[in-house]
Amino acid sequence: MNYQRSSALFKEAEMYIPGGVNSPVRAFKAVGGDPIFVKSAKGAYLYDEDGNKLIDYIASWGPMILGHAHQPVIDAIVDKAQKGTSFGIPTQIETEIAKLAVSMVPNIDKIRFVNSGTEACMSAVRLARGYTGREKIIKFAGCYHGHSDAFLIQAGSGAVTFGAPNSPGVTQGTAKDTLLARYNDLANVEELFDANNGEIAAIIIEPVAGNMGCIIPEEGFLEGLRKLCDDHHALLVFDEVMTGFRLAKGGAQELLKIDADIITFGKVIGGGLPVGAFAARNEIMEYLAPLGPVYQAGTLSGNPLAMSAGLTMLKELNERPEVFTSLNDKTKYLHQGLEKVLTEAGITFQINRLGSMISVHFTEAPVVDLESSAKGNNGTFKKFFHGMLNEGIYLPPSAFESWFLNDALSYKDLDNTIEAARKVATSL
Ligand code: PMP
Repeated sequence: MNYQRSSALFKEAEMYIPGGVNSPVRAFKAVGGDPIFVKSAKGAYLYDEDGNKLIDYIASWGPMILGHAHQPVIDAIVDKAQKGTSFGIPTQIETEIAKLAVSMVPNIDKIRFVNSGTEACMSAVRLARGYTGREKIIKFAGCYHGHSDAFLIQAGSGAVTFGAPNSPGVTQGTAKDTLLARYNDLANVEELFDANNGEIAAIIIEPVAGNMGCIIPEEGFLEGLRKLCDDHHALLVFDEVMTGFRLAKGGAQELLKIDADIITFGKVIGGGLPVGAFAARNEIMEYLAPLGPVYQAGTLSGNPLAMSAGLTMLKELNERPEVFTSLNDKTKYLHQGLEKVLTEAGITFQINRLGSMISVHFTEAPVVDLESSAKGNNGTFKKFFHGMLNEGIYLPPSAFESWFLNDALSYKDLDNTIEAARKVATSL
């Protein structure tokens, strides 16, 4: 495939935008080469500036669960845009989407909308601190909760891809309040509670991690965190920015049958427009301004275009919950196909999958945390990534990211992907 025009556009972008991109992983630094520039997308496919058609496995990093330019979502946005794009005054649609979200996720009473997953997680932690009157939080190495200061401590996603999990610019004062634990290591969390008795406001975690590849919580791990939080009167915050409205109607909480205290959302809840949200039971949400003392606000929060895209998306997922089964079946099919062709090619690999999140790691030992994920052979990943790209398959351009399937993918697309992997695997 030819990517000449994309490369030229990237060179131009580099002159005016740091690194040519508005979010680091897009720059292909982890895999080498120039990024492709997208011209349009429909369903499961991306169409780039060179006229190539690619099968998309990132779905805009999660939001496009029903495929790109999903007609009901587009119609809703266009219709709303005709009526004005922002007011900074309440609108009925904000209540509609809040009511629907609260009905889909059983253990939340109220939800506040923001503009990104970062904002959602940042606000959730402030709320947890305000509610408990404590300052420290526990996060897990390799989990990513957005680029707010408190989370850039051994962060995953682009932060680990670019070797800056602890970003310069985060003050030591901030960093000292973020305690770090190993994913899937309950004893480690217990030690932190013992060493910081009465000081921990919350644990924040991706209940299924997607920012060090896809990593699944081991049996008993999340249950153990729930119990530790209860015993120590700390709050359990589930970052469901990736998993919310993707793994099930009620997200990871429903699928894994664990209740968190505060839940953050992003991606799917905005239907492809910039939206995040955080939610909890009344008692906690009433700590938020204007009811309570914890301040949080946003000029464009609850934006009508964003709310109409999100509402249309959630409505469809609510009315057609079979989408979650269909996505799970498709991802399982892909998993089995990849497993077969990589095994036949004699490659060392691990595949992690839950629902429609999946990742391939070129390593021998099971991938259960950041350390085991980082043992993956990045050279092999690079070759695999570029081989697949050359076959018209767009994978996340870093081994530290989950793939996201969308329901517009057909079994023919999956077969083509598996066939491409067979070809590429023989050259690894
Ligand atoms: N939490 C998780 C689990 C995420 O995956 C991300 C982004 N990938 C975020 C938070 C931050 O969301 P945003 O990029 O919308 O700020």
